[in-house]
Amino acid sequence: MNSKKKGMLVLYTGSSGVGKGTIMQELLKRDKNIRLSVSNTTRPPREGEIDGVHYNFVTKEQFESLIQKDGYLEYAEYCGNYYGTPKQQVEDLLSQGYDVFLEIEVCGGLQIMEKYPDVLSIFVLPPSIDTLEKRLRRRGTEDEETILKRLGEAKREIECSEKYKYVVVNDKLEDAVDEILDIIKKEKSDTT
Ligand code: 5GP
Repeated sequence: MNSKKKGMLVLYTGSSGVGKGTIMQELLKRDKNIRLSVSNTTRPPREGEIDGVHYNFVTKEQFESLIQKDGYLEYAEYCGNYYGTPKQQVEDLLSQGYDVFLEIEVCGGLQIMEKYPDVLSIFVLPPSIDTLEKRLRRRGTEDEETILKRLGEAKREIECSEKYKYVVVNDKLEDAVDEILDIIKKEKSDTT
């Protein structure tokens, strides 16, 4: 019998370009009990993205077939592509005792909050919309139309941030990482 304590589910949201991926990489380095759920997406891979590591890159048909099988914890359409969290993978990691981060956008986040009202929810905010726009442009991974779409989504998402338990402003990477690690520590001590 596996007697290991179940891990914590963490809903981790922030608009495109806010730096949440970079924060996530630091969290994974600093806390070995954290695992990131790998999502399925129909978006084509960006340069350097590896199938099975950054995402499972699937076709629309494959994505929809898993919807039919009730295989997603949540899923959403974002800027014309599907993104979803495969259920089985998250359940396995939680039962192995890992704290599992779902790095997902707001619509999926709201589905998770409905299903798991006690989920630890963290929203990463940019210091300002101007900073976000600069970061998106500097990243250079999207064309102009997509950048504008993503900025529109970002404004809508930021309005939802008040539904999250914790809001972290990513002004300095190190500070944002420390703050999230502190939140996890605090939440763990509150539940033990
Ligand atoms: P990107 O295309 O920049 O990798 O991701 C676009 C947005 O989709 C980001 O906000 C990202 O967090 C979100 N996302 C990634 N995986 C999932 C998922 O499994 N479900 C949902 N709802 N959103 C996701």
